[in-house]
Amino acid sequence: MEAEKITDPVGEFLVDSRYNPASIEEKWQTTWAELGLDHTPTDTNQPKYYALSMFPYPSGSLHMGHVRNYTITDVIARLKRMQGYRVLHPMGWDAFGLPAENAAIDRGVPPAKWTYQNIEQMRQQLKRLGLSIDWNCEVATCSPDYYKWTQWIFLQFYQAGLAYQKEAAVNWDPIDQTVLANEQVDSEGRSWRSGAKVERKLLRQWFLKITDYAEELLNDLDKLPGWPEPVKLMQANWIGKSTGAYLEFPIVGSSEKIGVYTTRPDTVYGVSYVVLAPEHPLTKLVTTPEQQAAVEAFVEEVTNESELERTAEDKPKRGIPTGGKAINPFTGEEIPIWIADYVLYEYGTGAVMGVPAHDARDFKFAKEQNLPIKVVIVPEGGDADASLTEAYTEPGIMVNSSQFDGMNSTEGKKAIVQYAEKQGFGKERVQYRLRDWLISRQRYWGAPIPIIHCPNCGAVPVPDQDLPVRLPEDVEFTGRGGSPLARLEDWVNVPCPTCGTPAQRETDTMDTFIDSSWYFLRFTDAKNEQQIFDSAKVNDWMSVDQYVGGIEHAILHLLYSRFFTKVLRDRGLLKFDEPFQRLLTQGMVQGLTYFNPNKSGKDKWVPSHLVDPTNPRDPQTGEPLERIYATMSKSKGNGVAPEDVIAKYGVDTARMFILFKAPPEKDLEWDEADVEGQFRFLNRVWRLVTEFVVNQSSQQTAQFQITPLALNEGTSATQWLQNPKSKIEKDLRRAIHIAIKEVSEDVEGEYQFNTAISELMKLSNALNDATCKDSSVYAEGIGTLVVLLAPFAPHIADELWHLLGNNNSVHTATWPKYDPAALVADEITLVIQIMGKTRGAIQVPAQANKVELEKYARESDVGQRYIEGKEVKKVIVVPGKLINFVLG
Ligand SMILES: [Zn+2]
Repeated sequence: MEAEKITDPVGEFLVDSRYNPASIEEKWQTTWAELGLDHTPTDTNQPKYYALSMFPYPSGSLHMGHVRNYTITDVIARLKRMQGYRVLHPMGWDAFGLPAENAAIDRGVPPAKWTYQNIEQMRQQLKRLGLSIDWNCEVATCSPDYYKWTQWIFLQFYQAGLAYQKEAAVNWDPIDQTVLANEQVDSEGRSWRSGAKVERKLLRQWFLKITDYAEELLNDLDKLPGWPEPVKLMQANWIGKSTGAYLEFPIVGSSEKIGVYTTRPDTVYGVSYVVLAPEHPLTKLVTTPEQQAAVEAFVEEVTNESELERTAEDKPKRGIPTGGKAINPFTGEEIPIWIADYVLYEYGTGAVMGVPAHDARDFKFAKEQNLPIKVVIVPEGGDADASLTEAYTEPGIMVNSSQFDGMNSTEGKKAIVQYAEKQGFGKERVQYRLRDWLISRQRYWGAPIPIIHCPNCGAVPVPDQDLPVRLPEDVEFTGRGGSPLARLEDWVNVPCPTCGTPAQRETDTMDTFIDSSWYFLRFTDAKNEQQIFDSAKVNDWMSVDQYVGGIEHAILHLLYSRFFTKVLRDRGLLKFDEPFQRLLTQGMVQGLTYFNPNKSGKDKWVPSHLVDPTNPRDPQTGEPLERIYATMSKSKGNGVAPEDVIAKYGVDTARMFILFKAPPEKDLEWDEADVEGQFRFLNRVWRLVTEFVVNQSSQQTAQFQITPLALNEGTSATQWLQNPKSKIEKDLRRAIHIAIKEVSEDVEGEYQFNTAISELMKLSNALNDATCKDSSVYAEGIGTLVVLLAPFAPHIADELWHLLGNNNSVHTATWPKYDPAALVADEITLVIQIMGKTRGAIQVPAQANKVELEKYARESDVGQRYIEGKEVKKVIVVPGKLINFVLG
């Protein structure tokens, strides 16, 4: 390693002529921690900025997806600090959940121990990334001082009537012995974890009434212009609002009625049967003795199918008649009542009217079951008697519909609903696809639901002063049976808080999505032991100004967080409607992936560490391999470990590559050659700055202060510069201020970090090529390059900043503003065209008007050669660019 001794006013220091990231990165990380640079300011004079990454699950090791996510947020946080904001940039752990419990079962390590070890390890990895995180606000959702407030929030919901118990059919994993969300069941009806065939089971469970907020959750999407449109669309579809009709079909021989919901009341004259969900309470009533055995067998069979299996598009619909009949109130006609697997009791009314002529699913079902198909809507000018080969689902003209015949079906919808209302057998209804949120989990590693079941009083909330309900630590994990909590008699059996009678604790824990639905609020006052948060603090810092995370959370996590925010607002705890002002969903990180095209399934992937990239062959068979880019995963063996990249190139290079390779929302292909490209760029910046420093110190008389004070507000850059004299200096200064302008614009709004880094490269080229290296303009350029680089490559920037003689951290420097005067070019290049063909170019004064431009062009060599003695019919001038002579 070469080093050169330099004397500066402060004393002697060494300048490495080579960039050595390992020696500087840890040093700066320690210095920043000592200086407390990342602490959240308490002084509220500056405008606030809350930059937040979706917090990780503590699996134990960081992957490239994390690195990308946190780097994006970190650049924004660092930039905002330099722009004069007080910034909150916290980190925490989404630490409850199944993996810890499975690790406990597999390895006998208690979940808490396993989780905290992983947190410790990942915290060190994150610190090695040099992220400007305020670790003072760190939270872990599995810590009692956090889940105390999760439980407190549950009780807020309970008091508001938004938490209730209900018996419900759930997806039951017979191996893991737990309830699964629909998202955890694959397309074959198997558990995502255990692979077990999922069963349906009835359990009494806790729900949160998110449906009460469906309309507001839908409408307020309009208040989020900073969210990607696809995410808002996914949320809207998940809420799934529709406007239709609720109609009642009387049961023959009973006073009971079957209520159905339909978005197509205009087709009601075409109803040829009614279908109940097998679990519908009316099923027993309508089943005739002849059908009883068959119906019971069918219900039994369907009970064990998952919801996904029952509703899969490509599966044949199964159903049987109950023998019972209902009356179509519009026609007075008797129609058969069926039960079928595709009707779910949890959706709508648990019953549907069958209109095979105008619904694709009903058409298929009717064809398979040989049920009548009756056309009641025809296309304009169509034939009412034509037989159908598929359902006609478009709007049209009503036929075979009594007094509504000839009516347009869109109008018909309203007319039918009005008629039904008048006759007393129906009304208009708005319905949502969204259902209440099932939050009960029969698992240990989650926040216990703070309820005590008393034989006298029913469900009794645990009093606030008794929170948290702590998870007991002495738990045996066998991986079998129900919840381990249910077996802990000492924990379960407690006196009722209200009447003192022996009672039992609720043994369900909460869905981990609850923990992550409010963590962003706790960060604003993370250490408060008295309250969930101080109201002034939460209302000051919220909403999150920029939220960054994966698209896989586009629906549930964001919807639940919005729901929690609205409920807590209605409880008087918050003064805002939406938690996240702007959302950035970063793309995936893809790795070079090898596969054997002659193999199929999981076997075809060959881990890249087993492959010679110059001659990729299957190590087992010797067959040549093909390569693609695919999302990094263990199963494909295509991952790149962050620690390996950091060891080889340093964090700053890894950050620069991640930011430069693709815009944040796009997928990023990991490419070693491009990583090296960024390493070379940082080396070039290093060389430019260190050469400048060496050059300056070798000149005995300091002509000017290296410290680019001029970059700070108060001293204008023009004052500091004593008139850049030559054209060379003016051109360089223009390049510097174009860089300031372009980088500043790229990092706002859409976060075009890749083009921002391109601008930094242009500036470094301009400095490299400059022939005025002793000028004050050059010094301005060097200082500017270092400051602009700071949010992207924070360690090297701070090192170079200090080499330039500054005593403060570059991260406390002010983000530069460009000087509009510097952008104005004295001269521009004017292209001369004759008859549209480019013949040459000349330098002209930038402010020349059209008449002057024509004069310069005519007088130039090009003009004299091509125009002299010819008739000019027309002159076309594009100011600042070109002039075109049309000759006669
Ligand atoms: Zn009681």
